[in-house]
Amino acid sequence: MAERAQLVPQYDSEGRAQFVRQYFDDSVETTASADDFDSAIGTVVITDEFTSTPTITITPYDPGEVTGWMNAFVRGSGVNGKTPYVVIDCTNARYGGIPKPSLWTPVWRAVDDATVPADGRPRPWALFDNKSAVGDVLTLYNDTAFASNAIEVSFKPRWRYLDTQRAFAYVESTGLAVELASSIAATGLPTHVHDQFTFSGTPANSATPTAINMYACGVDDTSVSPAGGDDKLNLVFIVGQHASEDQGNDACWEAVYFYTDGTGTIADWFRQHCRLFVYDVNPQGRYYGKERQTEETGGDEDSNRAWDDSGSEQVNAVKTAMSLDLTRTDICWDWHGAYFLNGNGNANEFGIYVTETIEETWRDRVNTLLSPMFVTDIGTGSAGTAQEYGNDILGAQLCSTLEFPIAFTGYPDPQTGYEPVIETFVEAVKDMVAASELTLTTITGPDLLLGAAGV
Ligand SMILES: [Zn+2]
Repeated sequence: MAERAQLVPQYDSEGRAQFVRQYFDDSVETTASADDFDSAIGTVVITDEFTSTPTITITPYDPGEVTGWMNAFVRGSGVNGKTPYVVIDCTNARYGGIPKPSLWTPVWRAVDDATVPADGRPRPWALFDNKSAVGDVLTLYNDTAFASNAIEVSFKPRWRYLDTQRAFAYVESTGLAVELASSIAATGLPTHVHDQFTFSGTPANSATPTAINMYACGVDDTSVSPAGGDDKLNLVFIVGQHASEDQGNDACWEAVYFYTDGTGTIADWFRQHCRLFVYDVNPQGRYYGKERQTEETGGDEDSNRAWDDSGSEQVNAVKTAMSLDLTRTDICWDWHGAYFLNGNGNANEFGIYVTETIEETWRDRVNTLLSPMFVTDIGTGSAGTAQEYGNDILGAQLCSTLEFPIAFTGYPDPQTGYEPVIETFVEAVKDMVAASELTLTTITGPDLLLGAAGV
């Protein structure tokens, strides 16, 4: 009896529907409309079975705010030891064919959620061995089979709510996590969660609304401290504001991993002179498939324009948490990805928004250290941003919005791609401390972060 190929939706670990290849047949062409299952991806056409030369055609349609259109699961691809051809037809995609193959680098990774990497990192993404484009139609394939029973294909590396949960859990496992006052005050919620929201409405994707945690935690190696009685620099990391700017999450968490696991002189200096406060801002936007904005009961917001008003429940929660957690902010970095899917031209560049002279100094130092990489000065930011909040309300000495490059270009995987950049951030801070451009604060009382015990 011939088996029959079929596309059915399957919900991934964050509740997002994905198309999943199931095996019933040997070579039956199947066409499925996105609307048959979900609003997530567009049209998926399987033109062959994996027993010969597997081909998967993905035709994105106008996704609105849906980010799921960028992703497809291909399950069973290892069954026959074959590598699928993936054909992505962008002719009718949003923005008149953008993302075009010439600008955009699809990636794949093994997906096996039952096996979580011990270091807490998401599974690394990989380039396809071969890529060819005809117009806006891109064909991708690998030269060798891969030993996985499922892969995910995406327009770019992506970061899920699930990955945020794993990242906080990993930091907890290192012994360097500090539960912040905001989390302690939020009785009944998990450790490192200061608030929780359940979206009421119809989300952009097909995920079933559920309670989504607002995470924040301190990260501090209390076994080391600056010489001479100075306090550490308090570094506030704001991450995940714009839902589909996955690179910002990858880069920020790589900085946290560098703090917890990094080796070498600069990593030692980092732990000795800095402690981190990590705030995740827009988990609802990521969970419910938004491109940039939030998915909040009461309306959507651009979270990075909502720091000067009360429009975003998630930003409000983070501001409240910060008021409980922070007695002094020295450095505030807001981690983003350059979102050329929105039409942003900064597809391949690494940009830093700066406002004040000291921030220009830091950016210039980073640029020198990264040379010949070009760091774009992309302006001073807009009203209502976290950068503005960090400067004006938190009173940070140094505050910048970081726009990491799109997709894979120049960044083969989060660790090897971003870690050298993170090292330059820390190196530049170290140099600025040495040059008295940044100031360590002498401890005059108990450190609130470390609690009344002062340990
Ligand atoms: Zn952004």
